[in-house]
Amino acid sequence: MSILIKGGRILTAADDYVGDVFVEDERVTLIGESLDVPADRVVDASGKYVLPGCVDPHTHLDMPFGGTVTIDDVESGQISAAFGGTTCHVDFIIQPKGATFADAFDEWMSKAEGRQVIDMGYHMAVTDLKDGGTLEELATLPDQGVTSYKLFMAYKGALMVDDETLFRTMQVAAETGALVMVHAENGDAIDVLVRQALAAGHTEPKYHALTRPPETEGEATNRAIQLARVAGSPLYVVHVSCRESVEPIARARDAGWNIHGETCTQYFFVDYTFLERPNFEGAKWVYTPPPRAKHNQDVLWNAVRTDILSVISTDHCAFLWDGQKTMGRDDFSKIPNGGPGLENRLHMIHEFGVRQGRISLNRMVELLCTNPAKLFGLYPRKGTIAVGSDADIVVFDPKKRHTISAATHHSKSDYNLFEGTEVTGSPELVLLRGQVLVDGDELVAKPGIGRFVQRAKFGEELKPERVPA
Ligand SMILES: [Zn+2]
Repeated sequence: MSILIKGGRILTAADDYVGDVFVEDERVTLIGESLDVPADRVVDASGKYVLPGCVDPHTHLDMPFGGTVTIDDVESGQISAAFGGTTCHVDFIIQPKGATFADAFDEWMSKAEGRQVIDMGYHMAVTDLKDGGTLEELATLPDQGVTSYKLFMAYKGALMVDDETLFRTMQVAAETGALVMVHAENGDAIDVLVRQALAAGHTEPKYHALTRPPETEGEATNRAIQLARVAGSPLYVVHVSCRESVEPIARARDAGWNIHGETCTQYFFVDYTFLERPNFEGAKWVYTPPPRAKHNQDVLWNAVRTDILSVISTDHCAFLWDGQKTMGRDDFSKIPNGGPGLENRLHMIHEFGVRQGRISLNRMVELLCTNPAKLFGLYPRKGTIAVGSDADIVVFDPKKRHTISAATHHSKSDYNLFEGTEVTGSPELVLLRGQVLVDGDELVAKPGIGRFVQRAKFGEELKPERVPA
Protein backbone atom coordinates (compact mmCIF):
# COMPACT_ATOMS: atom_id res chain seq x y z
CA MET A 1 0.00 0.00 0.00
CA SER A 2 1.40 3.38 -1.01
CA ILE A 3 -0.12 6.81 -0.51
CA LEU A 4 0.93 10.14 -2.01
CA ILE A 5 -0.21 13.17 -0.01
CA LYS A 6 0.00 16.14 -2.35
CA GLY A 7 0.29 19.85 -1.75
CA GLY A 8 -0.28 19.98 1.99
CA ARG A 9 1.30 22.36 4.46
CA ILE A 10 3.78 20.05 6.18
CA LEU A 11 4.29 20.94 9.82
CA THR A 12 6.82 19.54 12.24
CA ALA A 13 8.28 21.02 15.43
CA ALA A 14 10.80 22.88 13.24
CA ASP A 15 9.41 23.08 9.69
CA ASP A 16 6.51 24.68 7.88
CA TYR A 17 6.41 24.31 4.07
CA VAL A 18 4.17 23.12 1.26
CA GLY A 19 5.15 19.80 -0.29
CA ASP A 20 4.28 16.21 -1.06
CA VAL A 21 4.76 13.20 1.19
CA PHE A 22 5.04 9.69 -0.19
CA VAL A 23 4.36 6.77 2.06
CA GLU A 24 5.17 3.14 1.36
CA ASP A 25 5.58 0.00 3.49
CA GLU A 26 4.56 1.73 6.69
CA ARG A 27 7.06 4.57 6.44
CA VAL A 28 7.64 7.93 4.87
CA THR A 29 10.05 7.23 2.03
CA LEU A 30 10.05 10.48 0.05
CA ILE A 31 9.30 14.15 0.69
CA GLY A 32 9.55 16.71 -2.07
CA GLU A 33 8.03 19.28 -4.38
CA SER A 34 5.57 18.06 -7.03
CA LEU A 35 6.50 14.40 -6.61
CA ASP A 36 5.61 12.32 -9.63
CA VAL A 37 5.47 8.76 -8.33
CA PRO A 38 2.79 6.13 -8.85
CA ALA A 39 0.73 5.48 -5.70
CA ASP A 40 -2.21 3.28 -4.74
CA ARG A 41 -3.96 6.37 -3.44
CA VAL A 42 -3.39 10.07 -4.04
CA VAL A 43 -4.67 12.50 -1.41
CA ASP A 44 -5.14 16.15 -2.34
CA ALA A 45 -4.08 18.02 0.78
CA SER A 46 -4.05 21.53 -0.63
CA GLY A 47 -5.22 23.98 2.00
CA LYS A 48 -4.73 21.31 4.69
CA TYR A 49 -2.09 20.77 7.34
CA VAL A 50 -0.01 17.59 7.24
CA LEU A 51 0.91 16.85 10.84
CA PRO A 52 2.74 13.99 12.55
CA GLY A 53 0.35 11.64 14.34
CA CYS A 54 -0.01 12.93 17.89
CA VAL A 55 1.55 11.03 20.79
CA ASP A 56 -0.26 10.95 24.13
CA PRO A 57 2.07 9.83 26.92
CA HIS A 58 -0.56 9.77 29.66
CA THR A 59 -3.72 7.63 29.45
CA HIS A 60 -5.49 5.01 31.54
CA LEU A 61 -7.43 2.40 29.58
CA ASP A 62 -9.11 -0.62 31.18
CA MET A 63 -7.71 0.31 34.59
CA PRO A 64 -9.20 -0.81 37.91
CA PHE A 65 -9.43 2.31 40.08
CA GLY A 66 -11.57 3.76 42.85
CA GLY A 67 -13.69 0.63 43.28
CA THR A 68 -14.54 0.35 39.59
CA VAL A 69 -12.84 0.06 36.18
CA THR A 70 -12.33 2.89 33.67
CA ILE A 71 -15.08 2.77 31.05
CA ASP A 72 -12.80 2.90 28.02
CA ASP A 73 -10.94 -0.28 27.26
CA VAL A 74 -8.04 -0.49 24.82
CA GLU A 75 -10.33 -0.64 21.80
CA SER A 76 -12.77 2.16 22.62
CA GLY A 77 -10.05 4.38 24.05
CA GLN A 78 -7.82 3.96 21.03
CA ILE A 79 -10.68 4.54 18.57
CA SER A 80 -11.37 7.75 20.45
CA ALA A 81 -7.67 8.65 20.16
CA ALA A 82 -7.60 7.90 16.42
CA PHE A 83 -10.49 10.27 15.68
CA GLY A 84 -8.60 12.97 17.55
CA GLY A 85 -5.42 12.51 15.50
CA THR A 86 -3.50 10.54 18.14
CA THR A 87 -1.74 7.52 16.64
CA CYS A 88 0.44 6.43 19.56
CA HIS A 89 -0.01 6.55 23.30
CA VAL A 90 1.73 5.30 26.40
CA ASP A 91 -0.57 3.77 29.01
CA PHE A 92 0.15 2.68 32.56
CA ILE A 93 0.56 -0.84 33.81
CA ILE A 94 -0.35 -0.75 37.49
CA GLN A 95 1.62 -3.23 39.60
CA PRO A 96 -0.85 -4.84 42.01
CA LYS A 97 0.68 -4.60 45.51
CA GLY A 98 2.92 -7.61 46.07
CA ALA A 99 2.81 -8.76 42.43
CA THR A 100 5.82 -9.12 40.18
CA PHE A 101 6.29 -6.71 37.29
CA ALA A 102 6.33 -9.68 34.89
CA ASP A 103 2.84 -10.75 35.98
CA ALA A 104 1.54 -7.19 35.75
CA PHE A 105 3.10 -6.77 32.31
CA ASP A 106 1.51 -10.02 31.07
CA GLU A 107 -1.88 -9.02 32.41
CA TRP A 108 -1.87 -5.64 30.67
CA MET A 109 -0.52 -7.03 27.42
CA SER A 110 -3.38 -9.54 27.39
CA LYS A 111 -5.93 -6.72 27.82
CA ALA A 112 -4.55 -5.13 24.65
CA GLU A 113 -4.04 -8.29 22.59
CA GLY A 114 -5.83 -8.11 19.26
CA ARG A 115 -7.74 -4.96 20.19
CA GLN A 116 -5.20 -2.27 19.37
CA VAL A 117 -6.24 0.41 16.94
CA ILE A 118 -3.17 2.64 17.35
CA ASP A 119 0.40 1.96 18.46
CA MET A 120 1.14 1.94 22.15
CA GLY A 121 3.72 1.57 24.84
CA TYR A 122 3.55 1.06 28.60
CA HIS A 123 4.92 2.81 31.64
CA MET A 124 5.22 0.73 34.83
CA ALA A 125 3.46 2.17 37.86
CA VAL A 126 5.45 0.94 40.85
CA THR A 127 3.40 0.41 44.02
CA ASP A 128 5.61 -1.92 46.00
CA LEU A 129 9.34 -2.80 46.02
CA LYS A 130 10.96 -5.72 47.79
CA ASP A 131 14.66 -6.41 48.23
CA GLY A 132 15.64 -9.67 46.59
CA GLY A 133 12.62 -9.49 44.29
CA THR A 134 10.86 -6.62 42.63
CA LEU A 135 13.68 -4.16 43.36
CA GLU A 136 15.99 -6.19 41.13
CA GLU A 137 13.21 -6.99 38.66
CA LEU A 138 12.57 -3.27 38.17
CA ALA A 139 15.97 -2.94 36.54
CA THR A 140 15.03 -5.45 33.83
CA LEU A 141 12.05 -3.50 32.46
CA PRO A 142 13.90 -1.04 30.19
CA ASP A 143 15.34 -3.95 28.19
CA GLN A 144 11.75 -5.03 27.50
CA GLY A 145 10.87 -1.61 26.12
CA VAL A 146 9.20 -0.34 29.30
CA THR A 147 11.51 2.61 29.87
CA SER A 148 9.62 4.71 32.39
CA TYR A 149 8.63 4.16 36.03
CA LYS A 150 5.63 5.96 37.47
CA LEU A 151 5.12 6.64 41.15
CA PHE A 152 2.07 8.01 42.91
CA MET A 153 2.86 10.36 45.80
CA ALA A 154 -0.90 10.50 46.53
CA TYR A 155 -3.89 8.12 46.91
CA LYS A 156 -2.93 6.97 50.39
CA GLY A 157 -3.91 3.39 51.14
CA ALA A 158 -4.15 2.61 47.43
CA LEU A 159 -1.48 3.52 44.89
CA MET A 160 0.64 5.85 47.02
CA VAL A 161 4.28 4.98 47.71
CA ASP A 162 6.44 6.29 50.52
CA ASP A 163 9.57 8.35 49.93
CA GLU A 164 11.80 5.30 50.36
CA THR A 165 10.12 3.51 47.46
CA LEU A 166 10.20 6.70 45.39
CA PHE A 167 13.87 7.29 46.09
CA ARG A 168 14.95 3.70 45.50
CA THR A 169 13.10 3.68 42.18
CA MET A 170 14.96 6.85 41.23
CA GLN A 171 18.25 5.16 42.07
CA VAL A 172 17.35 2.20 39.84
CA ALA A 173 16.36 4.59 37.05
CA ALA A 174 19.69 6.39 37.34
CA GLU A 175 21.36 3.02 36.61
CA THR A 176 19.03 1.67 33.92
CA GLY A 177 18.27 4.73 31.81
CA ALA A 178 14.57 4.83 32.65
CA LEU A 179 12.62 8.03 33.15
CA VAL A 180 10.91 8.51 36.53
CA MET A 181 7.40 9.97 36.39
CA VAL A 182 5.62 11.28 39.46
CA HIS A 183 2.07 12.12 40.35
CA ALA A 184 3.09 14.89 42.71
CA GLU A 185 0.73 15.61 45.59
CA ASN A 186 1.30 15.22 49.31
CA GLY A 187 -0.95 12.21 49.92
CA ASP A 188 -0.54 12.20 53.71
CA ALA A 189 -1.71 15.80 54.16
CA ILE A 190 -4.55 15.31 51.68
CA ASP A 191 -5.71 12.20 53.54
CA VAL A 192 -5.98 14.23 56.76
CA LEU A 193 -7.92 17.02 55.02
CA VAL A 194 -10.32 14.53 53.37
CA ARG A 195 -11.11 12.82 56.68
CA GLN A 196 -11.65 16.17 58.40
CA ALA A 197 -13.95 17.40 55.62
CA LEU A 198 -16.08 14.26 55.77
CA ALA A 199 -16.23 14.42 59.59
CA ALA A 200 -17.57 17.97 59.23
CA GLY A 201 -20.31 16.71 56.89
CA HIS A 202 -18.79 18.14 53.70
CA THR A 203 -19.70 15.64 51.02
CA GLU A 204 -20.19 17.57 47.75
CA PRO A 205 -17.85 17.30 44.72
CA LYS A 206 -16.22 20.70 45.35
CA TYR A 207 -14.54 19.27 48.46
CA HIS A 208 -12.42 17.16 46.15
CA ALA A 209 -10.57 20.37 45.28
CA LEU A 210 -10.81 22.00 48.70
CA THR A 211 -9.05 19.02 50.31
CA ARG A 212 -6.23 19.02 47.70
CA PRO A 213 -4.92 22.60 47.89
CA PRO A 214 -2.29 23.66 45.34
CA GLU A 215 0.42 23.81 48.01
CA THR A 216 0.19 20.02 48.39
CA GLU A 217 1.06 19.73 44.69
CA GLY A 218 3.84 22.31 44.94
CA GLU A 219 5.40 20.59 47.96
CA ALA A 220 5.43 17.15 46.36
CA THR A 221 6.77 18.51 43.06
CA ASN A 222 9.67 20.16 44.82
CA ARG A 223 10.32 17.04 46.95
CA ALA A 224 10.46 14.83 43.87
CA ILE A 225 12.78 17.25 42.09
CA GLN A 226 15.22 17.38 45.01
CA LEU A 227 15.19 13.59 45.48
CA ALA A 228 15.78 13.02 41.75
CA ARG A 229 18.78 15.33 42.02
CA VAL A 230 20.22 13.24 44.85
CA ALA A 231 19.53 9.96 43.03
CA GLY A 232 20.82 11.29 39.73
CA SER A 233 17.75 10.28 37.73
CA PRO A 234 15.76 12.24 35.17
CA LEU A 235 12.28 13.24 36.33
CA TYR A 236 9.00 13.96 34.56
CA VAL A 237 6.19 15.54 36.58
CA VAL A 238 2.78 14.55 35.21
CA HIS A 239 -0.37 16.68 35.09
CA VAL A 240 1.01 19.94 36.47
CA SER A 241 -2.05 22.04 37.28
CA CYS A 242 -1.02 25.20 39.12
CA ARG A 243 1.53 27.93 39.79
CA GLU A 244 2.74 26.15 42.95
CA SER A 245 4.16 23.26 40.90
CA VAL A 246 5.14 25.25 37.79
CA GLU A 247 7.51 27.35 39.91
CA PRO A 248 9.79 24.57 41.24
CA ILE A 249 9.96 23.06 37.73
CA ALA A 250 10.90 26.45 36.29
CA ARG A 251 13.66 26.86 38.88
CA ALA A 252 15.01 23.37 38.22
CA ARG A 253 15.07 23.87 34.46
CA ASP A 254 16.64 27.27 34.86
CA ALA A 255 19.43 25.55 36.79
CA GLY A 256 19.86 23.06 33.96
CA TRP A 257 18.59 20.05 35.89
CA ASN A 258 17.14 17.03 34.10
CA ILE A 259 13.56 17.86 35.07
CA HIS A 260 10.55 17.83 32.72
CA GLY A 261 6.86 18.48 33.10
CA GLU A 262 3.52 18.14 31.37
CA THR A 263 0.10 19.60 31.81
CA CYS A 264 -3.15 18.25 30.39
CA THR A 265 -5.73 19.83 28.09
CA GLN A 266 -8.40 20.20 30.75
CA TYR A 267 -6.31 22.42 33.05
CA PHE A 268 -6.42 25.22 30.47
CA PHE A 269 -10.22 25.22 30.29
CA VAL A 270 -11.84 23.82 33.42
CA ASP A 271 -11.56 25.76 36.66
CA TYR A 272 -12.66 25.16 40.24
CA THR A 273 -16.16 26.61 39.70
CA PHE A 274 -17.09 23.62 37.49
CA LEU A 275 -17.05 21.47 40.65
CA GLU A 276 -19.72 23.71 42.18
CA ARG A 277 -22.30 22.92 39.48
CA PRO A 278 -25.54 21.70 41.07
CA ASN A 279 -27.20 18.28 41.08
CA PHE A 280 -23.90 16.43 41.33
CA GLU A 281 -22.91 17.56 37.84
CA GLY A 282 -19.65 18.83 39.34
CA ALA A 283 -18.54 15.19 39.68
CA LYS A 284 -17.81 15.14 35.93
CA TRP A 285 -14.73 17.27 36.63
CA VAL A 286 -13.48 15.30 39.63
CA TYR A 287 -10.01 14.34 38.50
CA THR A 288 -6.64 14.72 40.17
CA PRO A 289 -5.07 17.21 40.60
CA PRO A 290 -8.42 18.99 40.73
CA PRO A 291 -9.54 21.91 38.56
CA ARG A 292 -7.80 24.98 39.99
CA ALA A 293 -8.59 28.69 40.40
CA LYS A 294 -8.84 30.31 36.98
CA HIS A 295 -5.69 32.45 37.25
CA ASN A 296 -3.62 29.27 36.90
CA GLN A 297 -4.72 28.91 33.27
CA ASP A 298 -2.55 31.86 32.18
CA VAL A 299 0.35 30.42 34.20
CA LEU A 300 0.02 27.14 32.28
CA TRP A 301 -0.21 28.77 28.84
CA ASN A 302 2.91 30.72 29.64
CA ALA A 303 4.65 27.55 30.89
CA VAL A 304 3.95 25.59 27.69
CA ARG A 305 4.91 28.56 25.54
CA THR A 306 8.28 29.00 27.26
CA ASP A 307 9.12 25.29 27.66
CA ILE A 308 8.87 25.23 31.43
CA LEU A 309 6.36 22.49 30.56
CA SER A 310 7.23 20.45 27.48
CA VAL A 311 4.18 18.26 26.84
CA ILE A 312 0.39 18.47 26.82
CA SER A 313 -1.19 15.06 27.51
CA THR A 314 -4.78 14.10 28.31
CA ASP A 315 -4.64 11.88 31.42
CA HIS A 316 -7.63 10.18 29.80
CA CYS A 317 -9.22 8.17 32.61
CA ALA A 318 -12.85 7.92 31.61
CA PHE A 319 -15.85 6.98 33.74
CA LEU A 320 -19.58 7.18 33.28
CA TRP A 321 -21.20 10.03 35.13
CA ASP A 322 -24.36 7.97 35.54
CA GLY A 323 -23.39 4.78 37.35
CA GLN A 324 -19.72 5.35 38.16
CA LYS A 325 -19.26 8.97 39.24
CA THR A 326 -22.55 8.60 41.13
CA MET A 327 -20.88 6.07 43.47
CA GLY A 328 -19.77 9.21 45.31
CA ARG A 329 -23.09 11.02 45.47
CA ASP A 330 -22.99 11.08 49.26
CA ASP A 331 -19.22 11.18 49.69
CA PHE A 332 -16.89 13.09 47.34
CA SER A 333 -13.99 10.79 48.26
CA LYS A 334 -15.83 7.89 46.60
CA ILE A 335 -16.19 9.64 43.23
CA PRO A 336 -13.85 7.83 40.80
CA ASN A 337 -11.11 10.32 39.89
CA GLY A 338 -10.67 10.95 36.19
CA GLY A 339 -12.20 12.22 33.00
CA PRO A 340 -12.25 11.52 29.25
CA GLY A 341 -10.09 13.63 26.95
CA LEU A 342 -8.17 11.46 24.50
CA GLU A 343 -10.21 12.60 21.48
CA ASN A 344 -10.15 16.37 21.87
CA ARG A 345 -6.58 17.41 22.71
CA LEU A 346 -5.68 18.49 19.18
CA HIS A 347 -9.07 20.17 18.67
CA MET A 348 -8.75 22.21 21.85
CA ILE A 349 -5.08 23.15 21.62
CA HIS A 350 -5.38 24.12 17.97
CA GLU A 351 -8.43 26.29 18.66
CA PHE A 352 -7.40 27.97 21.89
CA GLY A 353 -3.63 27.70 21.60
CA VAL A 354 -2.91 28.34 17.93
CA ARG A 355 -6.00 30.13 16.58
CA GLN A 356 -6.15 32.43 19.57
CA GLY A 357 -2.48 33.30 19.23
CA ARG A 358 -1.03 31.75 22.38
CA ILE A 359 1.36 29.30 20.69
CA SER A 360 2.59 28.71 17.14
CA LEU A 361 1.68 25.75 14.96
CA ASN A 362 5.24 24.44 15.30
CA ARG A 363 5.01 24.66 19.08
CA MET A 364 1.68 22.81 19.00
CA VAL A 365 3.34 19.96 17.09
CA GLU A 366 6.23 20.00 19.53
CA LEU A 367 3.92 19.79 22.57
CA LEU A 368 1.55 17.13 21.20
CA CYS A 369 3.86 15.02 19.04
CA THR A 370 7.60 15.63 19.08
CA ASN A 371 8.39 16.24 22.74
CA PRO A 372 6.35 13.30 24.06
CA ALA A 373 8.03 11.10 21.44
CA LYS A 374 11.49 12.33 22.43
CA LEU A 375 10.98 12.10 26.18
CA PHE A 376 9.48 8.62 26.01
CA GLY A 377 11.87 6.91 23.63
CA LEU A 378 9.70 6.94 20.50
CA TYR A 379 11.56 9.53 18.42
CA PRO A 380 12.26 9.73 15.49
CA ARG A 381 10.11 6.74 14.60
CA LYS A 382 7.17 8.69 16.03
CA GLY A 383 6.58 12.40 16.60
CA THR A 384 7.75 13.88 13.31
CA ILE A 385 7.42 13.66 9.54
CA ALA A 386 10.76 12.63 8.08
CA VAL A 387 12.13 10.09 5.64
CA GLY A 388 12.34 6.78 7.51
CA SER A 389 9.83 7.69 10.21
CA ASP A 390 6.63 5.71 10.67
CA ALA A 391 3.96 7.08 8.36
CA ASP A 392 1.74 8.18 11.24
CA ILE A 393 0.19 11.22 9.63
CA VAL A 394 -2.79 13.47 10.20
CA VAL A 395 -4.24 15.46 7.32
CA PHE A 396 -5.91 18.25 9.28
CA ASP A 397 -8.49 20.59 7.80
CA PRO A 398 -7.96 23.96 9.52
CA LYS A 399 -11.33 25.23 8.27
CA LYS A 400 -13.57 22.34 9.27
CA ARG A 401 -15.97 23.29 12.05
CA HIS A 402 -16.62 20.77 14.79
CA THR A 403 -18.75 20.86 17.92
CA ILE A 404 -17.35 18.75 20.72
CA SER A 405 -20.02 16.59 22.34
CA ALA A 406 -20.60 13.29 24.09
CA ALA A 407 -23.33 12.71 21.49
CA THR A 408 -20.70 12.30 18.78
CA HIS A 409 -17.44 11.41 20.54
CA HIS A 410 -16.07 7.86 20.47
CA SER A 411 -15.28 7.34 24.13
CA LYS A 412 -17.78 5.20 26.01
CA SER A 413 -18.12 7.95 28.61
CA ASP A 414 -21.57 9.54 28.78
CA TYR A 415 -20.22 13.08 29.03
CA ASN A 416 -17.46 15.23 27.57
CA LEU A 417 -15.26 17.59 29.58
CA PHE A 418 -15.66 20.26 26.87
CA GLU A 419 -19.31 19.66 25.93
CA GLY A 420 -20.65 22.15 23.40
CA THR A 421 -17.30 23.78 22.60
CA GLU A 422 -17.11 24.84 18.96
CA VAL A 423 -13.75 24.58 17.26
CA THR A 424 -12.52 25.28 13.75
CA GLY A 425 -10.03 22.67 12.61
CA SER A 426 -10.33 18.89 12.75
CA PRO A 427 -8.51 15.78 11.50
CA GLU A 428 -9.77 14.65 8.11
CA LEU A 429 -7.55 11.66 7.35
CA VAL A 430 -5.43 9.74 9.87
CA LEU A 431 -2.77 7.23 8.87
CA LEU A 432 -1.08 4.69 11.11
CA ARG A 433 2.13 3.32 9.59
CA GLY A 434 0.83 4.16 6.14
CA GLN A 435 -2.55 2.50 6.60
CA VAL A 436 -5.75 4.51 6.63
CA LEU A 437 -7.09 4.53 10.15
CA VAL A 438 -9.74 7.25 9.95
CA ASP A 439 -11.20 8.76 6.79
CA GLY A 440 -13.60 11.61 7.53
CA ASP A 441 -16.17 10.29 10.00
CA GLU A 442 -15.35 6.67 9.34
CA LEU A 443 -13.05 4.26 11.14
CA VAL A 444 -11.46 2.32 8.30
CA ALA A 445 -8.92 0.16 10.10
CA LYS A 446 -9.92 -2.84 12.17
CA PRO A 447 -8.81 -3.45 15.76
CA GLY A 448 -5.58 -5.45 15.74
CA ILE A 449 -3.77 -3.00 13.47
CA GLY A 450 -2.03 -1.31 16.43
CA ARG A 451 1.19 -2.63 17.95
CA PHE A 452 3.06 -2.59 21.21
CA VAL A 453 6.19 -0.50 20.71
CA GLN A 454 9.36 -1.28 22.64
CA ARG A 455 10.55 2.19 23.57
CA ALA A 456 14.16 3.35 23.73
CA LYS A 457 15.83 4.34 26.99
CA PHE A 458 15.68 7.95 28.13
CA GLY A 459 17.71 10.20 25.84
CA GLU A 460 18.17 7.49 23.20
CA GLU A 461 16.60 7.40 19.77
CA LEU A 462 14.22 4.75 18.53
CA LYS A 463 15.61 3.99 15.14
CA PRO A 464 13.21 3.13 12.34
CA GLU A 465 12.78 -0.59 11.89
CA ARG A 466 14.47 -1.90 8.79
CA VAL A 467 11.99 -3.61 6.54
CA PRO A 468 13.63 -6.84 5.32
CA ALA A 469 14.64 -6.56 1.66
ZN1 LIG B 1 -3.02 9.73 35.21
